[in-house]
Amino acid sequence: MIIVLKPNVTQKEIDHISERLKEHGLTAHVSKGKERTIIGAIGDDRVIETLPLSIFPGVEQVMPILSPYKLVSREFKKENTVIEFENGVTIGDKRVEVMAGPCAVENAENLLEIAEAVKSAGARILRGGAFKPRTSPYTFQGLGEEGLAYLAETRKKTGLLIVTEVMDTTEVELVAKYSDILQIGTRNMQNFRLLQEVGKYRKPVLLKRGLSATIKEFLMAAEYIMSRGNHQVILCERGIRTFEPSTRNTLDLCAIPVIKHLSHLPIIVDPSHGTGKWDYVAPMAKAAIAAGADGLMIEVHLDPEKALSDGEESLKPPKFKAMMEELRKIAPAVGRTI
Ligand code: PEP
Ligand code: MN
Repeated sequence: MIIVLKPNVTQKEIDHISERLKEHGLTAHVSKGKERTIIGAIGDDRVIETLPLSIFPGVEQVMPILSPYKLVSREFKKENTVIEFENGVTIGDKRVEVMAGPCAVENAENLLEIAEAVKSAGARILRGGAFKPRTSPYTFQGLGEEGLAYLAETRKKTGLLIVTEVMDTTEVELVAKYSDILQIGTRNMQNFRLLQEVGKYRKPVLLKRGLSATIKEFLMAAEYIMSRGNHQVILCERGIRTFEPSTRNTLDLCAIPVIKHLSHLPIIVDPSHGTGKWDYVAPMAKAAIAAGADGLMIEVHLDPEKALSDGEESLKPPKFKAMMEELRKIAPAVGRTI
């Protein structure tokens, strides 16, 4: 249920409603918008229906949320969610933010060199996996905490924010210590315990679409995170499995307008995993911005031939720079900056 509050509602009234909901085993998700504050009353619908919410002080209107994902839906929140970081970085606002870096953190020197290159080309967030969810148990699994330490060191030297994957509930605390954004990979999109765990943190989560997940399942996964109180969720379209073998995955750019319609959460696109081939990355990055993506995640490697993972989809720094220059022409045409 959405409880729309009066424009002049007081904090005392908000607290009173929240407490009454809690007494009935419900959760109150308060969202303060530019014009209105609303409360999402989440829990057993049968209990919610017994409460005379419309007569509570400060309440203007009470409306049911019809979609199965509640907090994620546009019904719950009309305005786009904008996630704000230090240094003026925002995701979901006018500027398209670019996260770039190697698939996996391999060593400190290369990471710093890649970070400096992507920063000078305009990226403000560094990506790099320390815990790698590899299809084969015999391939490079990532440097673990050592990789996280290299990321944190590079953050200090460059000022870039860090996004890195967390694969397990027992490692969330560790990854959160080093990283600005917690990444949930495609293979874990429906790892509900992990979603609930990152939901306990007050740190942005980058949730990648499951490789066989429908948009509804994707949004339900985001609901798991938000239902635990963490409303800072960034969705990421990274391609889905289809019958088409020409590319590693089929990048579903339709997901952008569909998600913009259904949800207030920002959505970014990963054309590296979406295509699996470096020379398709720039065209799909351009298309993603034209279609309304709020950001991009791009794999960059100094020497893709020697990359320990995903070399075939990684751009060398000069190619990344050239792509960024092209994106700078596309973004203003659709009312964005980059
Ligand atoms: C990644 O971004 O490093 C990654 C493993 O991506 P995905 O989960 O989309 O395969
Ligand atoms: Mn990769």
